[in-house]
Amino acid sequence: MAPAFPATSSSGSLLSIEALTVDFGGVRVLQGVDLTLARGEALGIVGESGSGKSVTWLAALGLLPKTAMVGGSVRLDGRQLLRAAPADLDRIRGGHVAMIFQDPSSALNPVLRIGRQIGEVLTRHQGVSGSSIRAETKRLFDLVGLPDAARRFDAYPHELSGGQNQRVMIAMALAGKPDVLVADEPTTALDATIQAQILDLLTTIRRETGMALVLISHDLGVVSETCDRIAVMYAGRIVETAPSGSMFANPHHPYTQGLLAALPPFEGALHRLLPIEGQVPDPANMPPGCPFAPRCSQRSNACETAAPQLIATEAGRFSACISGLAAGNRHIRKFSESMHV
Ligand code: ADP
Ligand code: MG
Repeated sequence: MAPAFPATSSSGSLLSIEALTVDFGGVRVLQGVDLTLARGEALGIVGESGSGKSVTWLAALGLLPKTAMVGGSVRLDGRQLLRAAPADLDRIRGGHVAMIFQDPSSALNPVLRIGRQIGEVLTRHQGVSGSSIRAETKRLFDLVGLPDAARRFDAYPHELSGGQNQRVMIAMALAGKPDVLVADEPTTALDATIQAQILDLLTTIRRETGMALVLISHDLGVVSETCDRIAVMYAGRIVETAPSGSMFANPHHPYTQGLLAALPPFEGALHRLLPIEGQVPDPANMPPGCPFAPRCSQRSNACETAAPQLIATEAGRFSACISGLAAGNRHIRKFSESMHV
């Protein structure tokens, strides 16, 4: 059952998502997501393609098309974002949240000089105008490691490389001085070296500005190095959440165990990678019971009955698997309840 929403913000989180559901054309693709984000925290969201990572954050920030039916609650600093009027939503979100995407070329206008685009953001969010725009842009370009700011300012997006354009996107996102940056697969289109540089950059900026980061990736390796905490998504649900280190050392959910086994080792001899057999289920055709059961080597008959809830397996750790319960969990506490203590 969906939890009753308290009048006050939950546990002082900066962002608090509760029982978030999304339906497209009568098909439920997000099955009730509960998540919190603390001020300054770096939260990683991982899962195979189609697991609901992007939809979760687009829904939370009111960026889905109108065809999407969104249910639940999303609070930013205690204020409800869902069902807010567009003008109110703009004001609440305002300079607080910025989002960047995989493909910077889709977000940058190809026929406008980069300086003009970043200038618009600076004017809108910070009231910066005139000659101050160039100075502030130079500061941002320095922050994101784009040298030669003057030349970049007058360039068009096609004159820059993919990595440079992603730095421009990050600079634009930072122009509003957000409390939260949601980065959706920000490095997937980039080669490995540039990918590492951009991730380092996000970590440095976070340290310097104190902003929270939500890093979405299909790659557990990418988020584990950058984030304090990880939420693993599968078939429109969170199936495990834990601090990065402890999740890596000892994954609780069989799906997380599968993701880890499929990861190349950081060092040492290459072992044979073990991809998880099978595919993410089609939302229109969900298996009864646990959505991962058809692919799970640890399944039992009980897994076919109902989708397991996210429950505490250790302090600060939650897993949605009945085998985790059998392995010694004595204090059944739902994640949604932990949000209100
Ligand atoms: P991820 O980001 O984890 O790869 P998404 O959040 O994009 O996955 O998608 C989750 C599910 O929602 C998928 O089944 C996808 O097909 C569906 N979906 C996403 N966007 C739309 C949309 N605009 N219309 C209909 N279905 C959608
Ligand atoms: Mg996505």
